[in-house]
Amino acid sequence: MEGKPPELGGVWKRLVVVGGGIAGSLIAKSLQFHADVTLIDPKEYFEIPWASLRSMVEPSFAERSVIYHKDYLTNGRLVVSKAIDISNSEVLTAEGRLITYDYLVIATGHNDSAPKTRPERLKEYDAEHERIKSANSVLIVGGGPTGVELAAEIAVDFPGKNVILVHEGSRLIEFIGPKAADKTLEWLRSKKVEVKLQQSVDLNNCSEESHTYVTSSGEIIKADCLFVCTGKPPGSAWLRETLLKNSIDSFGRLKVDENMRVKGYKNIFAIGDITDVKEIKQGYLAQKHALIAAKNLKLLMSGGKENKMASYKPHSIKVIVSLGRHDAVAQFPLTTLIGLVPGLIKSRDLYVGKTRKQLGLDPRLVDY
Ligand SMILES: Cc1cc2nc3c(=O)[nH]c(=O)nc-3n(C[C@H](O)[C@H](O)[C@H](O)COP(=O)(O)OP(=O)(O)OC[C@H]3O[C@@H](n4cnc5c(N)ncnc54)[C@H](O)[C@@H]3O)c2cc1C
Repeated sequence: MEGKPPELGGVWKRLVVVGGGIAGSLIAKSLQFHADVTLIDPKEYFEIPWASLRSMVEPSFAERSVIYHKDYLTNGRLVVSKAIDISNSEVLTAEGRLITYDYLVIATGHNDSAPKTRPERLKEYDAEHERIKSANSVLIVGGGPTGVELAAEIAVDFPGKNVILVHEGSRLIEFIGPKAADKTLEWLRSKKVEVKLQQSVDLNNCSEESHTYVTSSGEIIKADCLFVCTGKPPGSAWLRETLLKNSIDSFGRLKVDENMRVKGYKNIFAIGDITDVKEIKQGYLAQKHALIAAKNLKLLMSGGKENKMASYKPHSIKVIVSLGRHDAVAQFPLTTLIGLVPGLIKSRDLYVGKTRKQLGLDPRLVDY
């Protein structure tokens, strides 16, 4: 009886997914006709994270990349809240609601703060666009993928602005190889972005009103607007006092087995950036985790044997960092590329149409 849809006399298992990002949205969508799905996310929408830098220079881009959860979760329940605690059968939300589960998926990625509603998020992009448009000089702190992609978007769309990128490390985007980092630096400099490596800005001791910033080597930078693009911590702080407190490694990641279950638990899965899978943290890999976990959950929920579960194999490095609307830098296992060829893969649409399609949505703009 169990595992069959209710209309055929079966009883669906209760599946709770915590976190509606890249991984959580896909698994919730994939299992909504196989389980009684509840998605818990602090926002009423899902957002494609890597499209956010384009939305800052072109706010209408966010119309397709900020998507109501209800648009793809047509047969599941949405709880707009933060999860703050879990037991072996329930999740507690910040509003004090207890949600019972048979199976749980943790997909809380990285810590971020974003407004609750989609209109508020779109307004934020309008405001950021205005800030950039009205500034003569822009200071970006942090030369990881976010800082680099933002610097490139501004340099390409607003070539007259003075863009300064300050990065603590000895090279940009440290998780990719030195060759790709050098090519990125060369590209940014060719677009007149001032890149300052091995320097930091003390953000606690500066005032945005005076538009003056001091770097660790004592250099004074004048900039009309500031964007802080330093890394975000893993979204596991809320788990530190819970049932899973001993399942978190020293980097704040959940320890998982090859079936994407939290080690030592039979009914708790973790997917995406929150996991300790030994590979670079990327959205397309978070989606692969989601699909493996969905397959295993379907098997378990229909009474299948544990030894038939699918295993996840970590992937080798494959990263594309966009550089404005046409170019990109790519690091593949055997080669590094920069320019229009990798740009053709990512930079025009930033996989927005593709991601929408994966969620069963029209890849083009939809009217609200
Ligand atoms: C600039 C940039 C460019 C990138 N480019 C690419 C790229 O080209 N290709 C690629 O594959 N990847 C790319 N990535 C990486 C990709 O964005 C991440 O790997 C991906 O977002 C991870 O997905 P996730 O679902 O694990 O986490 P996230 O997408 O971070 O989602 C986590 C979700 O959990 C929610 N959440 C957090 N805490 C709680 C809580 N307590 N209760 C309930 N919900 C909670 C959050 O609100 C969020 O919705 C890029 C990242 C950046 C920053």
